[in-house]
Amino acid sequence: MSTDIVTQWVNLPHVVVQDVIMNETSTDLLITHTPPTLRCSNCGQLGFDRYDHTRQRIRDLSAFELHTYLVLDKWRIHCPTCGVRVEDLGFAAPYSRHTRRFEDLVARLCEYLPVANVAEMLGLDWKTVKEIDKRSLQRAFAEPDYSGLRLLAIDEISYKKRHKYLTLVLDLEQTRVVWVGKGRRQATLEAFFDEIGEETAHGVEAIAIDMWGPYIAAIEDRAPQAAIVFDKFHVIRNYSKVIDRVRIDEFKKAEKEDKPVLKGTRYLLLKNRENLAEDQEPRLEKLLDLNKNLNVVYMLKDDLKRLWECEDRAEAIHFMEKWIQTAEESGIDALQNFAKTLSNYSYGLLNHCKYPINTGKLEGLNNKIKVIKRRCYGFHDLDYFALKIKQASPRIRSP
Ligand SMILES: [Zn+2]
Repeated sequence: MSTDIVTQWVNLPHVVVQDVIMNETSTDLLITHTPPTLRCSNCGQLGFDRYDHTRQRIRDLSAFELHTYLVLDKWRIHCPTCGVRVEDLGFAAPYSRHTRRFEDLVARLCEYLPVANVAEMLGLDWKTVKEIDKRSLQRAFAEPDYSGLRLLAIDEISYKKRHKYLTLVLDLEQTRVVWVGKGRRQATLEAFFDEIGEETAHGVEAIAIDMWGPYIAAIEDRAPQAAIVFDKFHVIRNYSKVIDRVRIDEFKKAEKEDKPVLKGTRYLLLKNRENLAEDQEPRLEKLLDLNKNLNVVYMLKDDLKRLWECEDRAEAIHFMEKWIQTAEESGIDALQNFAKTLSNYSYGLLNHCKYPINTGKLEGLNNKIKVIKRRCYGFHDLDYFALKIKQASPRIRSP
């Protein structure tokens, strides 16, 4: 086989293929790499004295069924700034045993497949695959663009059992996760504001969050101009706990003959009515007929959801005052406590009229994150997990 053709085929600058050696499971291409000047891999300066060389075998893209390696003498050079350093080959990172284009392939595959599968496909160790993918992601997200952040959604996700959390910040206009931090404390979110800098932080107009004290405190401290918008899904989820509490209390109080009607009704009360099966509807009706308190908390749930339909602030204020009044007059402890909370947090509920934003897009990412979590399980590498989340968040491509 003419090595000229192989040289053209390999298509790397200043590389000439001298020989092709076929092994049982691999092909070795013996190459020379002779650029006009050498480059220091540490500082990038050009043109130095050669010091010594060692033979290297670098994995490249496969030719047909065989793993393919480039075999070459790699030089160390005298750099006036750095001393003795290895040369920069250009087509491979300084100490990598893989060409850049091979590493790109690994990273591309890792976007769609678990690390273990990629490792098996390419005949690599999983640690090698993970490190290649991680380096590639670190390069991709090395200089995050925080400019012009205006509307954000912030929420936590648990990454392990036993209450280990990550805080995710989503840029709502570009639907991309811009930041991932460990924990869900005030200091966690403050670290985000520190990273984007005061000017950017002061340009943020509105932030959707759960009614979570530490996040509120961080926003009030670092981005006091931003309108806090409490997310509907989270508020309703908190309200579900009220329903649950009342259901348990009512069951305890109920006469013996009424207990069967109340038993096992949790899902009836917590599910959205439109999602109930046909035979569940009469059971719910019977339950609500029987128990006045349950009826009140159930009706108020549907009512509360309408708060997020108010587009006008005055209308929303009126609506909320009425809702709180009904809750207070109910005489139900759990409901009265919830009304008090709602009243304290009313500013963030009313802000929804001006900024109709929510954390739904982060909830939407949850399934993807679960997949990533499974794939990353056993790596114990939180940085890698965070990078994979950023990669998975849907981005609007620049025009
Ligand atoms: Zn140098």
